[in-house]
Formats: sequence, C-alpha cells, structure tokens
Amino acid sequence: MSEGLRQAAYIVAALFFILSLAGLSKQESARVGNYFGISGMAIALIATIFGPDSAGMAWVIIAMVIGAGIGINYAKHVEMTEMPELVAMLHSFVGMAAVLVGYNSFINPPTIELINLEDAHAEHVIHMIEVFLGVFIGAITFTGSIVAFCKLRGIIPSIALDIPYKHKLNFAAIMASITLLIYFVRADGSIFALIIMTLIAFAFGYHLVASIGGADMPVVVSMLNSYSGWAAVAAGFMLANNLLIITGALVGSSGTILSYIMCKAMNRSFISIVVGGFGKTVTISSDEEECEYREISTEDAAEMLRESRSVIITPGYGMAVAQAQCPVNVMIEKLRAKDINVRFGIHPVAGRLPGHMNVLLAEAKVPYNIVLEMDEINEDFSQTDTVLVIGANDTVNPAAMEDPHSPLAGMPVLEVWNAKNVIVFKRSMNTGYAGVQNPLFFKENTVMLFGDAKSSVEAISKVI
Ligand code: NDP
Repeated sequence: MSEGLRQAAYIVAALFFILSLAGLSKQESARVGNYFGISGMAIALIATIFGPDSAGMAWVIIAMVIGAGIGINYAKHVEMTEMPELVAMLHSFVGMAAVLVGYNSFINPPTIELINLEDAHAEHVIHMIEVFLGVFIGAITFTGSIVAFCKLRGIIPSIALDIPYKHKLNFAAIMASITLLIYFVRADGSIFALIIMTLIAFAFGYHLVASIGGADMPVVVSMLNSYSGWAAVAAGFMLANNLLIITGALVGSSGTILSYIMCKAMNRSFISIVVGGFGKTVTISSDEEECEYREISTEDAAEMLRESRSVIITPGYGMAVAQAQCPVNVMIEKLRAKDINVRFGIHPVAGRLPGHMNVLLAEAKVPYNIVLEMDEINEDFSQTDTVLVIGANDTVNPAAMEDPHSPLAGMPVLEVWNAKNVIVFKRSMNTGYAGVQNPLFFKENTVMLFGDAKSSVEAISKVI
C-alpha cells in the first residue's frame, strides 16, 4: 500500500470515528455508532498493517491472534457489572503502551531528514520532549488505571488515601518531573532521567487515584478515559502516526468533556479532581444506626402499586447486579396496561459506568421516552404516588443535601423522599458504594423490600 493510500485510509477512518462518537451520543443511534467505530478501526488496522513501512508481519499477526484470543474470551465471559473494571484495565494497557513506545522511540529514534542542521536539531529536541511527555502521561495512566481497577473490583478499599502533605507531594512530583525534562533535553537524552521520571510518574498516578474517595470514582473513570486518550496522542506523535493523534485527541477530549459533565452532576470542582484527593474518609453516622425502618412484603408492594396513579423507578447498581432490568420491563408493561403513569429517573452516576442504567434499560427494551434524566424528573417526585428505588443507594441519599459532613455532601441526588411512598429494593441494610448510611431508609414514607431485586420484581409482577 502506498503512503498516499494509507493517509487517505486514515482520513476515512478518522471520519468514521467522529461519526461513531456522534452516534454514541444518543441511545437510538448508539448501535449505528458502534458499527461506524468497528468499521473505522478495521480500516485503521488494515492501513497500518499493510502500510509502506510495515515490517515483521509474522510478529504482528502472532501478537494479534494472541490478543484477539484473550480479548474475545474475556469479552464473552465478562459480566455487565464487571464492565467498569474492564474499562479501567483497558485504560492501563493504553498507558503502558505509551510508556513502551516512548522507551522504544528513545532507544531507536526516527531518522530525521537533514534539511539543515538547525531544523534537524529542533526536530530532535521536539522528539525528545514527545518521548518524555509520552512516557510521563502513559505512566500516570497506567498506575492510576490499575488503582481504579482494584478499587472497582474491591481488591483495595474505596476510601480515600489520606497521607500527610499529599498536595505538597503531588506538587513536588510535578516539579521534579519538569526539572528532569529540562535535564533530559539539555543532556541530549538521558536514560537515567527517563527512568527516574517514569518511577515518579508511576507513584504520582497511584497517589492521584488512591487519594480519591469511593463516592467520587465516576469522575476518576472518565478522567482516566481522558488520560488514556492523551497517552495515545503522545504515542501518535512519537510514531508520527496521524490517525493515532486524531483518535487519541477524540478520546482525550471526549473524556475531558465527560469528566466535566460528571463533575457538574456531582457538584465537584474540576481543578480539585485534576490535582486529586478531594475525597474524604468515610464514616458511618451512629445516629442512623439507632433508627428504625419498616419492611414490606411483595404482596403489599404490589397492592401499593395497583393503587398508584403515578410511579417513578430509580434504578442503581443493584439492578445491574441482580440483572433485574428485563423483569422490571415486564412489571412496568403490566402497570402501564393498568393506565398507571410509569417513568424512570436516572442519576448521572448511578451504577458503575457513565450511562450504565441507560444501557441496561435499552437492553431490556424499555421505551426511551419514559427514561428521564435526574434534572428532568426531580421536580416531579412531590406529585408521585410511589417511587421504586431498585438497587440504588448513594444516588438517592438525602444526606448529600442535608449533612455537610457526608462524603456525598453537595452531590445532587434524586429527591425520592418527596413522593407519597417509597419502596426500597435491596438485600440488607448495607451501605452503597460510598460506604455511608442512607437516612432515606428511616423516613416515615419509606418501606424496605429485602431480597434480590430480580426475585422481588418478578414476585410483584406475578400478583400485580
Ligand atoms: P450504590 O452502589 O450506592 O448502591 C447499590 C445498592 O444496591 C447497594 O446498597 C446494595 O445493597 C444494592 N444491591 C446490590 N446487589 C443487589 C441485588 N442483587 N438486589 C438488590 N439490591 C442489590 O448504587 P447507586 O447506583 O445508587 O450509586 C452508584 C455509586 O457508585 C455512587 O457512589 C457513584 O459515585 C459510584 N460510582 C459510579 C460510577 C459511574 O460511572 N456511574 C463509577 C464508579 C463509582 P445490598 O447489598 O443491601 O443489597
């Protein structure tokens, strides 16, 4: 394949990626968006593998067969609830790839066409800065994503690491890296400076994510998404690959926009996330532990629903764990057949991935027009007869609004307690992801329906 043809293929692939992002921005067009993405990636792979400068084809094919084998096997078995961990793990691969490309590009620098000595020197300096920044961003993304993976999987506790002088340490890591960059460029490349900076960046990435508390993890996930994009941009510059630069910039900027949306949804400052460590150590208030809650049976819950004219369902992570989305759809069809107005209220950080609940409800074929965002539905709770909180906890926690000391303080939540009745579907009095007790469970208009959400919903459907 000629260089001209390869560049043309790259432009087509880049357009497909842009169309893919446009498609993925709406549920109705998400499937088409995925097809655009797959097509773009197929074109990109063919153009790269059969490009004019490709070599070692056998190695490429062996690596692809092994990678595809592992990927297909894992994708087949991964549960929907494990998707966030998978995404975090994939981000760490991008980070490590940028580190390896950086070291490779340092050891085997590209040949610079000698136009004149000054230009050649400038190009060489630019290349060294690319290598340094690529390794820096890649190393932060790598360890940050590994910590995110461990927190999401529960291997390490989700509470914020709170070491003394943490902001000063972060600042020192950045200053040391800048000093090493200057030394690296002045010394015309120094493997010693590169290794020291890599170790600092590994530690910095670890600390950045470890010091963010459980409740703020959604922002971490989108932030690492953005970092992985910028790591790909850095790799693109080092490899002089325009498509990698474009794709990385698309991922990096959409991750940044997503982080911004998440920050807004959680009422957090973007700057405090970038510097890390706004999470707080979690404490469970003992007051609530003293309080009493009331239980309800599935028969009584069905009766309450039958008597309602309006129902809002607020799903959360527990619905994903229980895989209750299809039974929920069956139940709402029955309620709608009785002329009951049923709608869903979706919190932006419900579940463990941005858009997690929307994906589940789309999978269950719940009509899109009854699925509303938190801002669209929050005012309507006061005119609602019954709210079904299905596997949600932190996203319906009134402490976020009422208790300034709560780790959730300031985060807008679904104000379900304003409804006439609230039924909470969960298995126990356990806390949600943030590890804080929920005063909602002890309110007068709240009743608890204990058990697996799928079984409870199915039992209600039977008698409704
Ligand atoms: P939570 O994680 O706060 O709570 C989920 C609840 O579901 C638990 O209280 C649990 O209670 C219940 N549950 C679990 N399994 C079942 C089951 N089989 N049947 C019934 N109930 C079940 O959920 P939310 O969605 O309200 O909040 C999401 C949290 O995750 C927020 O803190 C958010 O910040 C965080 N997060 C979100 C990310 C995102 O991008 N959306 C990413 C990372 C973190 P019990 O054990 O008693 O059943």
